[in-house]
Amino acid sequence: MGSCLKGKSETKKHPGAFLCEKCGAVSDKKKHICDPCKLKKKDLDKGKKKKK
Ligand SMILES: [Zn+2]
Repeated sequence: MGSCLKGKSETKKHPGAFLCEKCGAVSDKKKHICDPCKLKKKDLDKGKKKKK
């Protein structure tokens, strides 16, 4: 594991970007994320809807 952005996203969420499951940062580069989770189009659609 390398460095992480610690909550500071480098890019907006989009399919193919990586989301850190620990701190929530988003980057195009997997190495910049400590706990990377690749975003899919489905994930983004989910996030848009407000569901409580
Ligand atoms: Zn992180």
